[in-house]
Amino acid sequence: MLLTIFPPVNAPTLTTLFAAALVASLLIKFWLATRQMRFVTRCRDAVPAAFAGTVPLQAHQRAADYTVTKGRYGLLSTAFGAAVLLAWTLLGGLDALNLIVRDAVQPALGTMAYQLVLLLAFSLIGALLDLPWDLYNTFRIEQRFGFNRTSWKLYVSDALKGLLVGALIGLPIAALMLWLMGAAGSLWWLWAWCAWMLFNLAILVLYPTVIAPLFNKFEPLADEALKLRVQALMTRCGFAAKGLFVMDGSRRSAHGNAYFTGLGSAKRVVFFDTLLERLNAGEVEAVLAHELGHFKYKHVLKRMGALFALSLVAFALLGWLSQQAGFFAGMGVQPNMRAPNDALALLLFLMTVPVFGFFFTPLNAMLSRRHEFEADAYACAKTSGHDLASALLKLHEDNAGTLTPDPWYARFYYSHPPASERLAALKT
Ligand SMILES: [Zn+2]
Repeated sequence: MLLTIFPPVNAPTLTTLFAAALVASLLIKFWLATRQMRFVTRCRDAVPAAFAGTVPLQAHQRAADYTVTKGRYGLLSTAFGAAVLLAWTLLGGLDALNLIVRDAVQPALGTMAYQLVLLLAFSLIGALLDLPWDLYNTFRIEQRFGFNRTSWKLYVSDALKGLLVGALIGLPIAALMLWLMGAAGSLWWLWAWCAWMLFNLAILVLYPTVIAPLFNKFEPLADEALKLRVQALMTRCGFAAKGLFVMDGSRRSAHGNAYFTGLGSAKRVVFFDTLLERLNAGEVEAVLAHELGHFKYKHVLKRMGALFALSLVAFALLGWLSQQAGFFAGMGVQPNMRAPNDALALLLFLMTVPVFGFFFTPLNAMLSRRHEFEADAYACAKTSGHDLASALLKLHEDNAGTLTPDPWYARFYYSHPPASERLAALKT
């Protein structure tokens, strides 16, 4: 195969590379986060001149406090995440878990059960480690700034439903992947990639119709005047949708949103009730026109195409790495002698790739920002730029987004251009 042209993986080299990438990414994350917090704090006492008439000082300061609070939380959770990653890999956590699960499950239930239990145990431990962070974020930070509307009861029922849906979807696809890895020969990764693509397309159809209704109520848009406006806009832009829905986003959070989702004829427009509460009909129309712009300029197709191409590369890489003893040893795991290593390879791969992928964040963010400008321009052409500008400003204020991000931080992370740049572009 083409992949045999690479030299075998050298374990110590991989360990060094991984550790270096992890340290470098942490340094960048910490540097950017502290820059952002300092910059926002420095700008806290005055609304930027461009927004002086439209944004009250109180809202500006609330946004600054929210940004700094989230920033501190982000620093701590990043440090914790890195410690967990090191514990799983170089410090031998996954190796230990593997030995326990293998000896307990494989003799009685066979190799497939052993591998599935290993994946399941890893995911459950990961979810438990994340839980306190999520609780703190939801019931402390979001609560303090008035965004949280989730009750404890709803939180627990969401978590249980999420686990159930995750297991119902995740276990069969994991079993299929493991089976292909073991049974489909040296080109298994190509078959696995095909299966993965089909799975993603199926989720695209199933998510809006089957999965999302498990968590939220979707009701047909009742406001007749708004309905007519939205339908006229869709016709003007050459779109057909299966339906216009209002989702009870307010059950969990005050953050507002709208989306256009699905494949082919299954497309539907979904408005969060929190969005409809805050925006007038013209502003809602402008926000939807922006979403339609993403479809018109084929941003969604391009993103999916890029994702499929990248996942092919990832599967090929996994196909190669899973055959390399140096890959396992370099990441802190002794490969099994009398059992398949496929589940181990999957887990190590899923932990390693994001560490190296982090360095592509600014590239991804830059492309995304370009798409946002294009969608804004489309919305301007099809509706009113004035409405879009006032909608953006309201949503920004409601979400306590800062108007004064650190330029470096924004360049690196922001998938949407800073409000000042977006509004300036709308004015021209
Ligand atoms: Zn957008």
